[in-house]
Amino acid sequence: MRIPEYAALARATTLLNPEPGTPGPRDSSLGGDLLWPADEPWPYCAQEGHWTFGLDGTTFTEVRPGEVPMVPVLQLFARDVPGLDFPEGKDVLQLLWCALVHDEDPGPVVPRLHWRNEAETLAGGVLREIPRPKEGEYDEDNVPVPSTLSPTPAQDHPRSWLHLPEDLRETWEPRLRSASGGSLVPPDAHHVATKAGGWPAWTQPADWPYCEGGHLMEHLLTVTGDIQLGDCGGVYVFECRACPGRPWDWRYDCH
Ligand SMILES: [Zn+2]
Ligand SMILES: [Zn+2]
Repeated sequence: MRIPEYAALARATTLLNPEPGTPGPRDSSLGGDLLWPADEPWPYCAQEGHWTFGLDGTTFTEVRPGEVPMVPVLQLFARDVPGLDFPEGKDVLQLLWCALVHDEDPGPVVPRLHWRNEAETLAGGVLREIPRPKEGEYDEDNVPVPSTLSPTPAQDHPRSWLHLPEDLRETWEPRLRSASGGSLVPPDAHHVATKAGGWPAWTQPADWPYCEGGHLMEHLLTVTGDIQLGDCGGVYVFECRACPGRPWDWRYDCH
């Protein structure tokens, strides 16, 4: 059932549709090798107090900061995701994170976001061997299965008013509540999807970040579902396109 009130909230998204495969460093991928400059150090998580579960699921091993390489999560080439607004001169987006469990949060944290220029990176030489954490140095649920992507543009809607930024919520809650009877999910809400742009696929009530300049940030990426994420919700990346340098932030939520 289509809810006319939702039409005004339509946003363009690109569904990434990961499928397990063998993506190379010059492919858009989830969990594949990244196109990484040979002369740039690979990131290692420097957080104190990150750890991994033992085999029995209860004991855990603490891992010293700086010892474990971050894992590739997402790589997007502009040619595959024409709907995504890349910063000037950049045509590759890369997201990595630490695959250990952290004290503050039960999921993967400390993501890193990089924008690159493909031609410049190739010209400067590419890292041949991507460091990967060894057995026992990661939580399986936090490491995406290497997957190729089939990016597909789509219309996206918030799943409910609970997923709107607060200032929009006030306007929209009464309208959506009466239109939907309070519980209906609009058919075009891609709420369990790894995607670029559109609405964050929150599994919890929204927690939109603001930049230091006080702007409501825009949703850039949702990574969810496909990789289990410890039976949890998703990781959401936001950015402010009003501020110089496009500051970014991230959120994580659980079922
Ligand atoms: Zn860590
Ligand atoms: Zn800003």
